[in-house]
Amino acid sequence: MKTLIHNIAVLATPVGQKAACGMSQGEINILHDAYILLEDDRILEVGEGSAPSVGPEIQRIDACGRLVTPGLVDAHTHLVFGGWREHELALKRRGVPYLEILAQGGGILSTVKMTREATEEELVEKASKVLKEMLALGVTTCEAKSGYGLDEATELKQLRAIRELGKRQPVELVPTYLGAHAVPKEYKEDREAYMELMEALLPKIAEEKLAEFCDVFCETGVFTPDESERILLAAQKHGLRSKIHSDEIDAIGGTNVAGKIRAASAEHLIAITPEGISALAEGGTVAVLLPATSFYLNKPYAPARAMIEAGVPVALASDFNPGSCPGFNLQLVMNLGCWKVNMSPEEVLTAVTLNAAAACGRAERIGSVEAGKQADLVIWDAPNLEYIFYRFGENLANTVIKNGKIQYTKG
Ligand SMILES: [Zn+2]
Repeated sequence: MKTLIHNIAVLATPVGQKAACGMSQGEINILHDAYILLEDDRILEVGEGSAPSVGPEIQRIDACGRLVTPGLVDAHTHLVFGGWREHELALKRRGVPYLEILAQGGGILSTVKMTREATEEELVEKASKVLKEMLALGVTTCEAKSGYGLDEATELKQLRAIRELGKRQPVELVPTYLGAHAVPKEYKEDREAYMELMEALLPKIAEEKLAEFCDVFCETGVFTPDESERILLAAQKHGLRSKIHSDEIDAIGGTNVAGKIRAASAEHLIAITPEGISALAEGGTVAVLLPATSFYLNKPYAPARAMIEAGVPVALASDFNPGSCPGFNLQLVMNLGCWKVNMSPEEVLTAVTLNAAAACGRAERIGSVEAGKQADLVIWDAPNLEYIFYRFGENLANTVIKNGKIQYTKG
């Protein structure tokens, strides 16, 4: 079935089938008075000026003089977890460092406890509500990590919950195995045994196709660069591509590992060094920056300009998780990208579409509005691209289309 979206005031989209880096990150296509012709779930034609005349059998969507962009891609979330952590608010407001909260058994370890106690169905129901709201904000694809189980049964439970969520609702999920998120307290005295346990899960995950990526939290007091490299290379042997949490607090070398092993992405990067930036540029690794976490923790923002100037493709993501970023509003992340990370609106758009799709291994299929790509689109309550950066704090998505079907429209 064909669908014509017409009366588009501005169509703003990056172009290409791979991450855009350097100057090209900000060189997007802007079409005025545009139309998009879809066939089933694919984009057939994109043009400017008068729309092709189509018969009454073709479905028409009137964009009513609004802005249209690709569907947003949230390339970094910890979507599935038990409970919340509002009791840490006072500690965080007093500025108690995260690693100290962790050392006291709080932080991730309390989420691990609540995630172990939850059933798969409880996790699915909780995350379903989040995904429904994410979709309404324009998110059509979302990466989701395990990492709150830290034991075999719960890591698999989280990954199976992600698989089930992918079947039950329209947001496309990208599953990532993050067994190396923290060392659970029962293994504090025997890290090697925990490393072996995580590696032992890899064949099972590969066999059930439960994850596309493997991720590691490489940080002071968590996993070292050598341990990170070991796990990520073991996962690559099972067909899982690499991601890494690095340079969030200290630059201990995780970003160099990302470049060396040609990871799909390195994430956080607040404390990245010039050497780390070179490693990412050489490895073709996408830098996934998480400015809502900096905002929430009162921390500096990652140096995006230095990365863009060095030719590193930059993506922006929410980092939705119950500790350091209990919010998933990617539109707010876009505002922060513009005002705090010092990226242009055009660069930010690329960061939450094409480059985020590249970080999720999907740049050939999604992330831009071009003939041949999947029809994932947002029609905004905005007349142009500037408007969605100028406004903030409200949902400006009007209609969200996933795989050629309207999945959300403002009432
Ligand atoms: Zn994270």
